[in-house]
Amino acid sequence: MKRTKIVATLGPSSIKSRVLEKMLYQGVNVFRVNFSHGSAEENRKTILKIQAILKKTKRHAAILADLQGPKLRIGTVEEGAFLDPGDLMTFTNKPCSGTKEKVFMTYDSFPKDVKVGEMILLDDGKLLMRVVSTNSKNEVIAETIQGGPLKSNKGVNLPNTRVSLPCLTDKDIYDLNIALDAGVDWVGLSFVRGKQDIKNLRKIINEKKSGAGIVAKIEKPEAVSDIDAILDETDAVMVARGDLGVEVPMESVPLIQKMIISKAISRAKPVIVATQMMESMINSLTPSRAEVNDVSCAVIDGADAVMLSAETSVGQYPVEVVEAMSKIVKASELSSVTRIKGRKPQPEDKRFVSNALCYQAAKTANLVEARSICALTFSGYSAKLISSFRPKSNVYVFTSNRSILNKLCLFWGVTGFYYNSMESTDQTFVEISKMLKSLSLIEDGDTIIQLASMPIKKRGMTNTMRIKQIGA
Ligand code: PGA
Ligand code: MN
Repeated sequence: MKRTKIVATLGPSSIKSRVLEKMLYQGVNVFRVNFSHGSAEENRKTILKIQAILKKTKRHAAILADLQGPKLRIGTVEEGAFLDPGDLMTFTNKPCSGTKEKVFMTYDSFPKDVKVGEMILLDDGKLLMRVVSTNSKNEVIAETIQGGPLKSNKGVNLPNTRVSLPCLTDKDIYDLNIALDAGVDWVGLSFVRGKQDIKNLRKIINEKKSGAGIVAKIEKPEAVSDIDAILDETDAVMVARGDLGVEVPMESVPLIQKMIISKAISRAKPVIVATQMMESMINSLTPSRAEVNDVSCAVIDGADAVMLSAETSVGQYPVEVVEAMSKIVKASELSSVTRIKGRKPQPEDKRFVSNALCYQAAKTANLVEARSICALTFSGYSAKLISSFRPKSNVYVFTSNRSILNKLCLFWGVTGFYYNSMESTDQTFVEISKMLKSLSLIEDGDTIIQLASMPIKKRGMTNTMRIKQIGA
């Protein structure tokens, strides 16, 4: 079983039930529904379709609803428009059909927020412009530094500008309500700038009494500078390399990725590495060697999950790319899973006793070469903590809390099982061993580590660890 999880973005190539089911069997753990594309109603139907498949196949997978956030775009532009270095162009906040002289931009207060000298990047950074003047009302004039074809509806990145737009736009709030009502497990927040953005989203999720977790997408320089506070506030992070590589110099992305992975692991927050991981497989049955290395490096650094975007949403081989990625993940894990990562629990921790026990469970599992660590949990807290130590053995989680079973699928190494008989700890330990044996996940001669809270009926914090020899 692979430990590193796979997130697959859905789109026209993959939203057929037959394809979704195959992707699930090839190793997808999280389905990402991207609200930047399609109508809210279409996306709601996709969520329902995934849920129906999970029910039918009796498998678990998480659903991540990814909100578009304040993504800036230019309006339509006439066919063949081309900008040369030195050309001046006007950005207006009044809708118009664009030319190489003037285009509409979907950001009303742009003339107010922007300052002379700041950079404007278009079409994933293919075109580069510098602000020459602004009338602070409705027009900004910029000079072309790096030219190229100017195409309709392309994205705009403003790495130096303090964008005053809220992180949750009206569209996002509408989409969020639809996604939460449909019962998604995770919500992706795009273009996060600071912890307040996460607090604002958290407030709505709590008001809706949803248990959905927040994935903060790191794709702005402000978010990189403020990463500690963001990690403290969020439930998970994504290294969103697509926009990040436009907003910061592309060559700084690899070290930012490593930094975010290591900080996230030390806080027991899942981290997803995203974008262009298997890009060439959009149109090819084999990835490039560089892509194989990229996925492998993310696995070796300890990411919880690696993500597919266009590969599975619009690519020709949505099933084959998952299969190929699973192979790379498994091969890379053979060497990467060698030492305990994560943060050693400290006496001042709020849940020091259970933290210490989970830490020791991971260490002991490596020492006795345990086949698995089995944890009984209601909140999922111990599952996420044990996962953060990246032990060599699989982490099996038993819970009577159905609402966390799919959510847990994002966590490194964790597999969840529904279990609701809570008679006595002894009986529970016997039953879960039987269950794993019947699934051929453990066999006679294996050593396993069991964790629970005693007395079991109280559903308290983890306070008991046992080393058990199967069949002895
Ligand atoms: P997106 O986010 O695909 O929603 O843009 C990921 C990224 O920017 O890498
Ligand atoms: Mn992005």
